Amino acid sequence: MYYNLMKMPAMVLSGRGIITRVDEILKEYHLFFPKRVLITQEELYGWYGSQLDGCADEVIFVKGGYFDEASDLMAKLTDKDALLLAFGGGSVLDLVKYCASKRDLPYINIPSALSNDAVYSCVARLIGHNGKKRSLSVQPPLAVLVDFEVVSKSPRKMSLAGMADVISNLSACEDWLLAKKDTGERINELAFNLARQAALPLFEHSEDVGSDAFFADLAGGIVTSGMSTIISGDTRGVSGAEHLISHAIDEYFPEKATLHGLQVGWAHLYIEKNIRHNEREAARLEAFFECTGLMNAIRENVPWTDDDFLSLVPYALKIRKRYTILNTL
Ligand SMILES: [Zn+2]
Repeated sequence: MYYNLMKMPAMVLSGRGIITRVDEILKEYHLFFPKRVLITQEELYGWYGSQLDGCADEVIFVKGGYFDEASDLMAKLTDKDALLLAFGGGSVLDLVKYCASKRDLPYINIPSALSNDAVYSCVARLIGHNGKKRSLSVQPPLAVLVDFEVVSKSPRKMSLAGMADVISNLSACEDWLLAKKDTGERINELAFNLARQAALPLFEHSEDVGSDAFFADLAGGIVTSGMSTIISGDTRGVSGAEHLISHAIDEYFPEKATLHGLQVGWAHLYIEKNIRHNEREAARLEAFFECTGLMNAIRENVPWTDDDFLSLVPYALKIRKRYTILNTL
């Protein structure tokens, strides 16, 4: 008999004051390790160090985000029984994910912002020697801890970007259905349903972005999205044409790139409106983007206009071999 053994998180916990209780929480969940290493940025530690007191035996400061830094960090991770605690934004989490996977060490993600699905995924994106982002496959974290007091202090556009990233699962799932129809690609229904379910609760938050209830659904959506990718063994349910456009911007026009989620949200709305001609969904998205402030964040940060979209398509098609609505143009 053949079946996949999947790594699921031992715990996902969100709430207020979580970072002050890490030691207690790990004991409560029977996650005992002879040594714990906190990896974070010096500036963040300056803000939250006193609250994180006692959660680790050692603290390592990193810049995060760059592939170059990985060998330095791995050289410091000499203890084979250590649990790594990654505290920071996507750049810190991605670096720790990559190094932990290379060293075969368990790690827990404690995000300081919920700006994209890096919090729980089997892919790390790090900037390589050529200044371009590389996607590296990694082990998922042992657990995710989300402190609403911490993430609510991050700039609002970060949370809006994270929300847009999870909502774009709906676009990715449309592409998956299209690939099934046009090319006979197999759909993993569990992964498909999880990806869709991750996005839907967020539409309840048109009036309360930044509230604890919003962050709870955003954190839940991010983790559920990650589980979808682990079940399908790829990012099919969470990354469609809108992600190809965003990756093309990062890859070919890094000087005109901004937060991943904002680029994805911009592309998602354009595709729904002008390529899929799904008027009802486009109107729903547009109204939701407007009242949550996401539309404004896109206007202020994404330098691309709708007139530029089609010029990005040839670059997007070079990103990866994945059948999407862009293949039909
Ligand atoms: Zn994404």
